[in-house]
Amino acid sequence: MQGFKVYFLGTGTSQGIPVIGSNHPVCLSNDKRDKRLRVSVWIYSDDFSFVIDCGPDFRQQMLNSNCPKIDALLFTHEHADHTAGLDDIRPFYFKQGDIAVYGHKRVLDNLAKRFDYIFSNENKYPGAPSVTQHVVVENQPFLIDKVKVNPINASHGNLQVFGYQIEGFVYLTDVKTIEATEIGKIKNCKVLVINCLRETPHNTHFNLEEALEFISLVQPERAYLTHISHLFGFHSEIEKRLPENVFVAYDNLEILI
Ligand SMILES: [Zn+2]
Repeated sequence: MQGFKVYFLGTGTSQGIPVIGSNHPVCLSNDKRDKRLRVSVWIYSDDFSFVIDCGPDFRQQMLNSNCPKIDALLFTHEHADHTAGLDDIRPFYFKQGDIAVYGHKRVLDNLAKRFDYIFSNENKYPGAPSVTQHVVVENQPFLIDKVKVNPINASHGNLQVFGYQIEGFVYLTDVKTIEATEIGKIKNCKVLVINCLRETPHNTHFNLEEALEFISLVQPERAYLTHISHLFGFHSEIEKRLPENVFVAYDNLEILI
């Protein structure tokens, strides 16, 4: 496969940055890199266009990135900051027909309850979008057209989450623990994106120490931190303190894989 691009649609934690009504200095920052929509990436080339997660900022993210089509929408897990924007697949549905969604069976079942008018074909309201469901199973790589996608199993506290590996690119978010067998699948990758909430510990997310430990275990060529809280600090100051091959992702950053 030829090279492809990864566009960071959002790099913020569940509330985004700025947090509504907050006077925290990071929320008031004028640095564009301190404005973070809810976490999501667009992975694309001339041949394909995949989006991982579609939180409440999905519409704005599709406008910011000029994403022209969605061949596949992959979900990491069902939390609202990763799924609440699903209704806004409508413009893609009008152009393309049913949108292919991928996720753990538990996640698709959850979405089918919350977005029953999208997942059910009965008494369809005119204009409601439709999806085709693809269940992702642990340890079972799958093909989307010709692109091989390998699910990576991890835990977000007590909740199972999937990360995804495509060639040299690995995207993992909302991870707190991951088993050694999974680490073998992503060792020495070219680019690793990994969640890093803040400096102080959290029950269900890596903090800085855990993320850096994970990065030194996996040994990617480069790593990008995402799912960032305003409590982490200013983008420019966090980045100064990181190892040479570790960067803080920011919204609308685009990298070549
Ligand atoms: Zn999240």
